[in-house]
Amino acid sequence: MAICQHANVVRITVFTMHNQQVSRMTSKNLDTTLIGAGRSKRYTHGAVNPVTQRASSLVFDSVADKKHATAQRAHGELFYGRRGTLTHFAFQEAMTELEGGAGCVLYPCGAAAVSNAILSFVSAGDHVLVTGSVYEPTQDFCTHILGRMNVATTYFDPLLGEAIAELIQPNTRVVFLESPGSITLEIQDIPAIVRAVRAVNPEIVIMIDNTWAAGVLFKALEFDIDISIQAGTKYIIGHSDYMLGTAVANARCWEQLREYSYLMGQMVDADTAYMASRGLRTLSVRLKQHEQSSIAVARWLAERPEVARVNHPALPACKGHEFYRRDFSGCNGLFSFVLKQRLSEAQLADYLDHFRHFTMAYSWGGYESLILANQPEELEAIRPAGGVDFSGTLVRLHIGLENVQDLIDDLAAGFERLQAGNR
Ligand SMILES: *Cc1c(COP(=O)(O)O)cnc(C)c1O
Repeated sequence: MAICQHANVVRITVFTMHNQQVSRMTSKNLDTTLIGAGRSKRYTHGAVNPVTQRASSLVFDSVADKKHATAQRAHGELFYGRRGTLTHFAFQEAMTELEGGAGCVLYPCGAAAVSNAILSFVSAGDHVLVTGSVYEPTQDFCTHILGRMNVATTYFDPLLGEAIAELIQPNTRVVFLESPGSITLEIQDIPAIVRAVRAVNPEIVIMIDNTWAAGVLFKALEFDIDISIQAGTKYIIGHSDYMLGTAVANARCWEQLREYSYLMGQMVDADTAYMASRGLRTLSVRLKQHEQSSIAVARWLAERPEVARVNHPALPACKGHEFYRRDFSGCNGLFSFVLKQRLSEAQLADYLDHFRHFTMAYSWGGYESLILANQPEELEAIRPAGGVDFSGTLVRLHIGLENVQDLIDDLAAGFERLQAGNR
């Protein structure tokens, strides 16, 4: 009964969110854009999908053709595999349309997109500002690689808002955001941050790791962010079988991002680009199901006596929930919750080893449900801008496309194992 009522509420929420989405997409409805984007005849050759053009060498018919291709090599003419083939161009065009930028660079994975986007804009002696809730490998890249290049990193409280102005130094070149934050899901007041940064120094390049929003639930470039980065590995690919990074830039940053990433050898193979285009076609319908199911599970968890807090952007307890409501058009399947109890290693194994539908794995964004846990001290170690404010074990869930009641039953059985262990 309770679940049924929840499902009704969820449906209404989704409907409202969807309407917002429609009003925010400037030209066409998102669902329709996802179907048509990057499917011009130049790319499809009479089929429904773009061709898979696998190539290192691209052949010139004449000296004049070679000359033309060379002059236009960065503007969609076939030149050499590392500049892309029709398969890449089709996907890049689709991403550019979806995220509303001047162009899209492709990388072999999300981590490469993050590191190469930053490297494209910093020099020795520069300073970067990075949100303290950032994905851990991004943090390690800043510490170990930027540090060696004499580029300093300051981590900031993700919820600091316009107070970021006080952290900007004369040599600050890049501000790097991620919202919601990795694992703890804090939603940032992006308009306040962007406004404050622009007021101090409009030259600073503002980037966001926009993986959680899949580039569509939060329209980064409409918020005056320069570069929207994604691990396409997650929802764009959507089936846990390929790795990809994307970065869509506005006109101000596009040429530098494109050329510097090219010089650093960044590209992806044609088969991955093809699968990414294919993933886009079902992105919206998958996200709607992830959203509906994850809200239902999160509401159920919020009522459980074992749970201290649910970090789900669509629920009021999540830090920055008001910014989620204002700036996002929907949510996905990834969130976390904190147990009241700090589980021992034995309890943790008993809890995590016996789920039927949730499997343990890094990554997320596929069709399957996943579960992982972190102890507070593990999170503390990757939160350089400030510690965690809870003492129980944190559990991160990715709610997949299984039947939601099966998932709730599985989680209920997990709580029963915990209770049995406590007796
Ligand atoms: C997974 C992930 C990445 C890295 O993507 P890979 O394709 O695994 O390299 C970067 N940022 C976020 C937020 C992620 O979740």
